[in-house]
Amino acid sequence: MKNEHPPLLSVQGLKKHFEIGEKQLLKAVDGIDFTVVEGETLGIVGESGCGKSTTGNLLINLLEKTEGKIILNGKDMDSLTKEEVRNSRADIQMIFQDPFSSLNPRMRVVDIIGEPLKTHTKMKKSEIQEEVFKLMDAVGLDRSYGKRYPHEFSGGQRQRIGIARAIALRPKLIICDEPVSALDVSIQAQVLNLLIELQKEFNLTFIFIAHGLPAVKYISDRIAVMYLGKIVEITTKDQLFERPMHPYTVSLVSAVPLPDPHRRDRERVILEGDIPSNVDIPSGCRFRTRCPYAEKKCELIEPELIEMEDGHFAACHFPLNGNTSNLLSGEEGMENHEGIFANETK
Ligand code: SF4
Repeated sequence: MKNEHPPLLSVQGLKKHFEIGEKQLLKAVDGIDFTVVEGETLGIVGESGCGKSTTGNLLINLLEKTEGKIILNGKDMDSLTKEEVRNSRADIQMIFQDPFSSLNPRMRVVDIIGEPLKTHTKMKKSEIQEEVFKLMDAVGLDRSYGKRYPHEFSGGQRQRIGIARAIALRPKLIICDEPVSALDVSIQAQVLNLLIELQKEFNLTFIFIAHGLPAVKYISDRIAVMYLGKIVEITTKDQLFERPMHPYTVSLVSAVPLPDPHRRDRERVILEGDIPSNVDIPSGCRFRTRCPYAEKKCELIEPELIEMEDGHFAACHFPLNGNTSNLLSGEEGMENHEGIFANETK
């Protein structure tokens, strides 16, 4: 997908290496590049340890990067003045997986949602109160709940509080870090539909991080697949599911459960071996120790992320080029999830 608009966010060569033990490096994020345009949702998927949440934490400055550039709205975040850094904090917000641990248990809901307005704006107390009520309306929380504390809410409601707080400053970009992973499927659907509605209403741009493919497919415009700290494939969601290029993407798609557990007519791609450690990344292609298609070249040369077709990038010496029809009935499981998501209101 070619986009004429300049990106809202451009990430270039981003790395986060942690020093552990005696001169060992844990390469959580190991050189990633991607862009996000205004109003789109970029999904980031991969197994735990692939670096997706670390990427989110780097973008929001919860972690300091080792290397690379983060350019927001055309401005390199490293070149900002103190005042600009303060403003940029308001421009990028985060929705967390576990809203309970991110909500102060001693604060009432009105104060939690109003806190960013108090910190970053010059609004009067009465204006903040009114704005908080509007935000509560927008996320479907009854205004009368404002006096309650986080423990008095269900998981889904707590996530709505977290979302209201995240949109309070009208940020340009929201990092959604596994925001529905802890919720059951019908509540997941309500939260996803709420996010889609708020995106239209407030012109939001999302990076949606998750390990569950159905939720990512439902909400995303494009999807990046990460493995051991690198992006191995990135493209539109339709391309990713119809013509995946990278063997790892194929294994992720084929692992989605079918709606009927008794059906056995799908050939699933079962990955051999454990995920290697981020401390001891395999030479050449980092997926080669688990890849059913690995050859000698894969051990010797690291494949670059290159454009295989219009807007479709993959890092593989022997891309599958859509030759996956017998492996992809995971699509069917995916559509089943989409039906559930679409049938739930926000
Ligand atoms: Fe598999 Fe080789 Fe492609 Fe890596 S480069 S994904 S090992 S075929």
